[in-house]
Amino acid sequence: MELVDQNDIKLHSQKIILSTIIKNYPISRAKLSEITNLNKATVSLQAHSLIKKHLISEIGMGVSSGGRKPILLVFNKNAGYAIGVELAANYILSILIDLEGNKVFSDYFEFVNESMETLNSILIERIRMVVNHAPESPYGIIGIGVGVHGFVNENQTVVFTPHSNWDKVDIKDLLEEQFTFPVFIDNEANAGAFGEKLYGEIKNSDNSIYVSVGTGIGLGIIVNNKLYRGSDGVSGEMGHMSIEFNGKKCGCGNQGCWELYASESAFFKNLSKIKNGVEMTHEKANKMILENDRDILMEIEKFGHFLGIGLTNMINTFNPDAIILRSNLIEANPIILKSIKKAVSKRVSRYIPLKNEIFISQLNRNAAALGAASFMIKKFLVDSKTFN
Ligand SMILES: [Zn+2]
Repeated sequence: MELVDQNDIKLHSQKIILSTIIKNYPISRAKLSEITNLNKATVSLQAHSLIKKHLISEIGMGVSSGGRKPILLVFNKNAGYAIGVELAANYILSILIDLEGNKVFSDYFEFVNESMETLNSILIERIRMVVNHAPESPYGIIGIGVGVHGFVNENQTVVFTPHSNWDKVDIKDLLEEQFTFPVFIDNEANAGAFGEKLYGEIKNSDNSIYVSVGTGIGLGIIVNNKLYRGSDGVSGEMGHMSIEFNGKKCGCGNQGCWELYASESAFFKNLSKIKNGVEMTHEKANKMILENDRDILMEIEKFGHFLGIGLTNMINTFNPDAIILRSNLIEANPIILKSIKKAVSKRVSRYIPLKNEIFISQLNRNAAALGAASFMIKKFLVDSKTFN
């Protein structure tokens, strides 16, 4: 018979106590014992150990039910900080958050036509700046999570970026050479879905889909409250699902890919064509929508139509509680949601009703960076190193 390691049991109770404090603080030891079903001696012992590790601390007095007033325990959300980076085809967004996900600092850097060599230096420079904004804390920076717009496999390798050259760089290696913190690389939509699941509209949804619409389209899929990653980690690349079987050729090798019709890039390209080749920006589009420009309203209908076709396929496949849309264009112009919903309701199987709604992201452009940083917090809080 294999003996259970007493140390493992001790660490297991410590993790349970910490996660209960995080969810319920300020909380007394008595209440902790009640919620966790661990006896009071264990709670006291492990709380003492967590205080020594600076992960929790004691504050003031709680409400007494007669007798001595209990001391309350709180989570030290400032015991360390995590960095989240979103690496897109034309921008780098970096944020610094505390262990509870509150934003402390952020930096947005936009670029065009930079060489990969320059971009590597810029990436390091921007992250270094974020590091320098971290307040003093017992653990310092606990890690850097990166969400990349592209295919990222289970080995954290960026294998394909249809709109940039980030796939030519070993980002994990690059950052680990420069910084002493743990680094984790994932797909942008996975990171965004994780961010939305922790802090956004889908917090209370068990099965949901995060759709990131920008230069391309990427999906983060949450099944039974967990990110669905597929067998190689490259799930959710629905931007490359054909919606026109004989359609335009795509860099991924397929034809008629969804993102060639329903991404923001596709929208701006079509709009620019109608407006005699004038280059389109988000600012110009927002202004035209406000002015009820006929051309842009027609393009919105088309954009909603194509987005709706893909979303319908997703609803028929996953039967989600909710779908969350992350797109600068849609967030700035919620009117677009109407066209999307119209297309979905026209097509979706009447036997698979969407339980809730299609939401627009409230975390906006922070969703992916927040999620990427939160991957590190999760690793830190359940990592055995933290609990040695
Ligand atoms: Zn494709």
